[in-house]
Amino acid sequence: MTASRYDLLFDPVQIGPVTAPNRFYGLPYSLGHGIDADPLRAAAHHATRAEGGWGVITAGECTFSVESDHLLSVATDERAQALRPITEAVHAHGALASLELAHSGVVASPLEVRTPALAPSQLQFEGSFFGRTIPKAMERDEIHRVQREWAAAAVRGRDAGFDLICVYGAHSSLLMQFLSPFYNHREDEYGGSLENRARMWLETLALVREAVGDTCGIVARVAVDALGPGGVDLEEGLAFIRMADPLVDLWDITIGGLDNSRVDLTPSRVYEEGFALTWSGRVHEATDKPIALNGRFTTPDLMADLVRKGTATLVGGARPGIADPFLPQKIRAGRFDDVVECIGCNQCAQRHMVGSLSCSQNPTAGEERRRGWHPERFERAENPDLPILIVGAGPAGMEAATVLGRRGFQMVHLVDARPRMGGHLEWFASLPGFRPWARLTELREHRIGRLSGVQFAPRTELDAAGVRDYGAEVVILATGARWAPSGLSLSTHAPIPGADAEQVLTPEQLLLDGRRPAGKRVVVVDGEGELVGAATAQWLQREGYDVEIVTPWPTVAIHAEHAGEAPTLRRELVQGGAELVTGMVVTAIEADAVVCADEFGRERRIAADAVVLATQRRSRDALYHELVGDRAALDAAGIVAVHRAGDCVAPRMLAESTFEGHRIGRLLGPDGALATDPALVLA
Ligand code: SF4
Repeated sequence: MTASRYDLLFDPVQIGPVTAPNRFYGLPYSLGHGIDADPLRAAAHHATRAEGGWGVITAGECTFSVESDHLLSVATDERAQALRPITEAVHAHGALASLELAHSGVVASPLEVRTPALAPSQLQFEGSFFGRTIPKAMERDEIHRVQREWAAAAVRGRDAGFDLICVYGAHSSLLMQFLSPFYNHREDEYGGSLENRARMWLETLALVREAVGDTCGIVARVAVDALGPGGVDLEEGLAFIRMADPLVDLWDITIGGLDNSRVDLTPSRVYEEGFALTWSGRVHEATDKPIALNGRFTTPDLMADLVRKGTATLVGGARPGIADPFLPQKIRAGRFDDVVECIGCNQCAQRHMVGSLSCSQNPTAGEERRRGWHPERFERAENPDLPILIVGAGPAGMEAATVLGRRGFQMVHLVDARPRMGGHLEWFASLPGFRPWARLTELREHRIGRLSGVQFAPRTELDAAGVRDYGAEVVILATGARWAPSGLSLSTHAPIPGADAEQVLTPEQLLLDGRRPAGKRVVVVDGEGELVGAATAQWLQREGYDVEIVTPWPTVAIHAEHAGEAPTLRRELVQGGAELVTGMVVTAIEADAVVCADEFGRERRIAADAVVLATQRRSRDALYHELVGDRAALDAAGIVAVHRAGDCVAPRMLAESTFEGHRIGRLLGPDGALATDPALVLA
């Protein structure tokens, strides 16, 4: 292999007593497999990252105290040993396994064991995950007990095969709560000055080092600047790093906290790759120890530059490794065209505590064990000449076509009425800041273009007769969804009176069909609470309209909170002059106004020349029902199976659309039927 400017990314790195094989540092994240996370499922997921070349794999947040009772646990020998499959799977591919030991403090919700949350001081927390908590202020014996538990957990982790022990304090967890004057109002030796606030963390590091430091590397994960109240600022962050440096073998640096605008999640709409470097890029001033930086890094040149300049020793990645577990291998091999780039949509973050890990770009993420999916390996088609028609080149249709092509099917036709692929992403990516989401389309366009067995037919609108006449034996419908023009709302399950007027538009009519509001004053109805209502409002603002947003929810874009977009989006809307009218149900649309009412029936009229209804999407499933409703006609046409995927089944988040297209592509059998999905077989 010839030398490349990225070779330095593959240098080994000494971390205390252990050596990472390269500089790719797989960051921790929750796999979202529920509260009782499944170590075997986690092992399969992490093994794929290790196989793909990540030199360090950090298992997700792992707790050890009764008061911090969620996610993986090493609270007992038995539970720690249950994690051994993770370390063995990671070691099998030559990577180091890292254990992130966490105590969430006031952010935890020990509802299972019914103890109060613990924190440095009794200050309430409005948690984004568990609601409001008023903790018990820790007494000295509790501080020392948690510290001992931390060290004991480190020993159990080492005995389960972990090479690195991370003493976690980022994201406003307990150690950061002690360090931060926002959470720590103590007046004893653990509060007040920075030296006192740092004492909890320093003592814990010392105990952990004493327990396992001769065999494991000691990592500290620190948010070096909270960029908000819930942590420390950069100067205190750097001062802490100087203080703790002798106790640490590797600094894992992030920014932000849980109690501000979720800046740690850096959604691509708001933050560019490497945004955190403004703060984290200064950590090298405070230490000579190895530094792992985070920043949704996907650009090899930026990664190599960070290392070359000494800003980072290791390049951290969570989302880039979810989207493409094989990112390091692809960089090493120069297969840049093959990289599945994280689009920064944060749908993985939305699912990180409930359900399964989901990735818009990589539907195999989280499905390595129960469905047996591998991102780079596909079962060959037994009947590659099966003619397959896919109607709709949105996320589900594109993904189904890609998987079928990668399986070796040779007669796959993907058709769409639009001139290019993308489905709803075509207009969604035109909303302010959402351009990176179009990379989902671009990747699949590129892949489909290289698959000899897949043809794309643009500007092709098929009705039922057209589908039957097409010559396919298998039909996959991925016809998407549309916003209900009637204003069908969550609150009433009924059309809004007046929604059929000329001045009332849906987001698609505005952004896809090119219709424009009748006058300058536009009311956007955010009945869904996701991104589209708020983002469409922002688009209108930038087009020069005066915008107000009405939502029945307590806040606009309420369900986009965990993606990290919503707080910034709301702030930008207000800065742009929008009024956010919350807790109001739209009851009527009149010629010059929107009428809404609060929960007490108090009415308000908002002057409006036009209205945009982002209330609920509905599946475009008429074609499916027409086709399957006439079995004789299908038989006569030689069509053996009709399947459907994505929003035309039920409108869901983007990651579920690509997942379902992928699933059909994987399961399609030689006779056109879908094989049994192992994840859907109930025990
Ligand atoms: Fe990246 Fe989105 Fe996948 Fe998360 S869900 S890893 S942000 S592409």
